Amino acid sequence: MKPTLTVCPYCGTGCMFHLLQDDSGRLTGVEPSGGHRISRGQLCVKGWNAHAFVQHPDRLTSPLIRRDGQLQPASWGEALDLVHSRLTQLADQHGSDSLMFLSSAKVSNEENYLLMKLARAGFRTNNIDHCARLCHSSSVTGLVETLGSGAMTNSLDCIDKTELILVIGSNTTEQHPLIGSRILQAVQRGARLIVADSRRIRLSRHADLHLRHRNGTDVALLNGIMRQIVEEGLEDTSFIADRTESFAALQASLESYTPQRTAEITGLEPEQIIDAARLFGGAKSAMLFYAMGITQHSHGVDNVRAVSNLALLTGNLGRPGTGINPLRGQNNVQGACDMGALPDVFTGYQKVADPDARQKFSTAWGVPLSSTPGLMSTHAIDAAVAGRLKGFFILGENPILSDANQAHVRQALEKLDFLVCVDIFRTETCELADVVLPASCYAEKDGTFTSTERRVQRGRKAIPPPGEAREDWRIIAELLQRCGMPADYADPSEIMAEIAGVTPSYGGIGYDRLGRDGLCWPCPDRAHPGTPILHRKQCTRGKGRFSPVKYQPSKEEPDAAYPLLLSTGRTYFHWHTGTMTRRSHLLDREERKAFAELNPLDAQKLGVREMQTIRISSRRGSIEVMAELTDRVPPGQVFVPFHFAEGAANVLTNNALDPESGIPEFKVCAVRVEAL
Ligand code: SF4
Repeated sequence: MKPTLTVCPYCGTGCMFHLLQDDSGRLTGVEPSGGHRISRGQLCVKGWNAHAFVQHPDRLTSPLIRRDGQLQPASWGEALDLVHSRLTQLADQHGSDSLMFLSSAKVSNEENYLLMKLARAGFRTNNIDHCARLCHSSSVTGLVETLGSGAMTNSLDCIDKTELILVIGSNTTEQHPLIGSRILQAVQRGARLIVADSRRIRLSRHADLHLRHRNGTDVALLNGIMRQIVEEGLEDTSFIADRTESFAALQASLESYTPQRTAEITGLEPEQIIDAARLFGGAKSAMLFYAMGITQHSHGVDNVRAVSNLALLTGNLGRPGTGINPLRGQNNVQGACDMGALPDVFTGYQKVADPDARQKFSTAWGVPLSSTPGLMSTHAIDAAVAGRLKGFFILGENPILSDANQAHVRQALEKLDFLVCVDIFRTETCELADVVLPASCYAEKDGTFTSTERRVQRGRKAIPPPGEAREDWRIIAELLQRCGMPADYADPSEIMAEIAGVTPSYGGIGYDRLGRDGLCWPCPDRAHPGTPILHRKQCTRGKGRFSPVKYQPSKEEPDAAYPLLLSTGRTYFHWHTGTMTRRSHLLDREERKAFAELNPLDAQKLGVREMQTIRISSRRGSIEVMAELTDRVPPGQVFVPFHFAEGAANVLTNNALDPESGIPEFKVCAVRVEAL
């Protein structure tokens, strides 16, 4: 077997493994990297099966152009010329901002950088975004405000050193399994664990305290814990005095969150809030982990501010075994953000509105650049429905299944004059495209990926893409050249050299320096060893800022017509819209059907039996799925994973957005259930 060391294509944990190839060149399996500091010789079930979809017969192998209503094979020259000429035509006719580019947290840093360059320099629009809008845009907005940097503050190695771990809104053992198992190992060596999650997740079985607060009440819960910490004098007074600002405002804002009032809002007992405050406030070092249970709300940024306030209040920042740790979902969602696949920033979060940053990129690329921040992807959907957006370029994303309120997204994409999809499979979104370009998956190209702990690592090419499919960076480079921009890169290392030249936090990153363990940014120069822990002496913005927040209910809560609360998420065996995992035979065998978790008490009232088909309806649509009766969900709540096209959770979800981050409220909406 020939082994090729590369990065796992699924979650943001950043495991590395060897793809194994037999004499005929076929991928036959994977083997974990024993010496890698994250994998440590282990993988989760998705990692072990990461080779399985690569050579699936459904792979796209030639460009497709829609003719007579059908997607039909075409040559690369014809397809790329058409993409360039139609986008140029629409920009000339309706202005550059009538175009939208959606990048991908699945492609490499180099590919995200090139697509960002194509949008900004090739087509002169800042309308570029990616799926972080749907997962951690709230973290970026909230943590930049309070700390000056939106990334995970500490490294995963810190789990081995901490005294206490608070996991809120993260089903870690299923979504980031190797981080979940590392947390369990910490518990085994004596670390305390608090889990705040309405579902009875695997981690909660090992927790010292499980807080099953109502979905959408995180601000009240965190404010209640903080009030109690202050009440009992457990705050870190010297950290607050030396390293923070606006403490008085925070203290005043906590006044009304007594244990009794917090209990009324959250559905918990007052004693649980007091216990949580004593446990958290009493620990010498505590790590906070959160994921989309915190961010995917119409008040997601407020949730993040509250998490940040708790860490600052207790001095849990800038030291080993502490920190605010948003767990990034996709394997390169951190990198896609770092590469400026966002509407308001270039690489390294340099603002497009900042004249100096704009001048720097303008000089590097040799073209004038727009100073107006572009559209967020969720606002772009609204703009398309309103007819203001005409052309959409989608790289490796499937918004028909991944975005909230499917009917609204479909209406938007159908209304466009021109839709381009670049993908490895013919997804539900590709079915609406005018041109589909066949791309490469992680096993078929070189490139770097940045994990949740800001670790930049090298993915390596094991096999060529199938048929006429091409590496994504080559596809984008061809379009850049058609826009008159030089883009004759010999390989992705040359693109990384260009990135390092314009991005201070990646200034010292180069392929020759990325050995087995990669490097954590900020890494400003070639001699710098990388930065596993941020905010050591001071926060990126200087002082850590307390940002008081007030509890606000979710936008759509259960009522008489729709009496149950719907929450959505992922499962252990599948990944996002199922494009890859549902084409991996062992993963598909484990979980083949769309299903919903329903509490047995609700099932009894509704007359629903185990495995019976049920219809779930919200104000936006209905789906039919199989009922799984379980006390993992509390009474009054339904959980539906969003992997299954035939029972798509996002038919039901509410596209109410957080006003600051533009993230939809995936975690709370009102539904009703009928037995069929
Ligand atoms: Fe891949 Fe994440 Fe599993 Fe590691 S934990 S093997 S990165 S899916």
